[in-house]
Amino acid sequence: MKYKITDPKYHFITVFDDETGVYVRTGIIKNGRDTGADPFMASFPHLIDVGVMGHCIHGKTGLCQKAGIGCYQNGAVTEKPNMTIDDFRWIAEQCRGRTNQLALGGRGDPDQHEHFEELLQICRENGLVPNFTTSGYGLTPELAAVCGKYCGAVAVSWYRSTYTHNAIRMLLDAGVKTNIHYVLGQNSIDEAIERLERDDFPTGINAVIFLLHKPAGQGTRENVLAPEDPRVKRFFAQIDRDHSFRVGMDSCNVPGAIRFCRNILPQSLDTCEGGRFSCYIGADMVMSTCSFDRKGQYGAALRPCTIEDAWNSEAFEHFRNRMRSACPDCKKRELCMGGCPLMPEIVFCSSEHRKMEQ
Ligand code: SF4
Ligand code: SF4
Repeated sequence: MKYKITDPKYHFITVFDDETGVYVRTGIIKNGRDTGADPFMASFPHLIDVGVMGHCIHGKTGLCQKAGIGCYQNGAVTEKPNMTIDDFRWIAEQCRGRTNQLALGGRGDPDQHEHFEELLQICRENGLVPNFTTSGYGLTPELAAVCGKYCGAVAVSWYRSTYTHNAIRMLLDAGVKTNIHYVLGQNSIDEAIERLERDDFPTGINAVIFLLHKPAGQGTRENVLAPEDPRVKRFFAQIDRDHSFRVGMDSCNVPGAIRFCRNILPQSLDTCEGGRFSCYIGADMVMSTCSFDRKGQYGAALRPCTIEDAWNSEAFEHFRNRMRSACPDCKKRELCMGGCPLMPEIVFCSSEHRKMEQ
């Protein structure tokens, strides 16, 4: 089914197909015509990352660390309660008819939440498509069947283990649209290039999505990729060509795609959507522009404050203003907006025009 959202404040329309996940946004509409100018933001988030997990059952075992992934949520050393059903329902009810998808996440695998199925059910009751990412470690055929009933797509983190392959197989067998989330850093870019060169990912998957490594939580600075690293160019050359599966990336990677890719339609690229079309709500009910805002610089506490109040808060506006005013002399400004306002070191740009206010 296709959902249409008309934005009365910023004058554009979005269409979202809850079966295929296709999401299209018009330009700003004036006098009934599309002006071709992209809207800077929506009047309510279209996608919300909901950190339903407050703690991770794998934290103490170092599952992520063994896979070379530094948990950006500090899952190995932080234990907080998971989000309650009541809080989750409160969020979902506000999103009804205004948001397309809820991406469940937080500090751990959402499939290990004590009320996992109920969370997914609440999404569907409110016309929202639930998605989530998992290590796959605790996934069972029963949980995969629950995903098949409710989820738009499920992503398995690329931890290169037997449980990774088992989870992918279980999800595919349950008819779930299955993606791989691959964290791209110094320690994993060589493998990414090689696998893309050979189309070497499990058969049957829908897409491999590359998520840029960030120096947040247990993610180290040493693992951040430098913009002039020649491997970065080689990686984007692989992104730029066809594969037997789809290839995607998070919006944090977009400055790199703008710089190095020639075949990707610029209209299909969207730079950081944090605070513009998406946001994060943690299990502690603090809403921020992005889940990587670990210091809570742009956070607004919810309840009694609503999602709409937080979206219109000064903290969110401050974040957006940094993008609005970034790199005024750069020709790619419209598309890139200076990249990540949180962590300048992850932006694949070395231009002399680069400038972002603090
Ligand atoms: S704020 Fe930075 S880390 Fe967050 S979505 Fe934007 S680019 Fe990515
Ligand atoms: S100068 Fe700024 S807007 Fe231009 S490409 Fe670099 S980061 Fe993006």
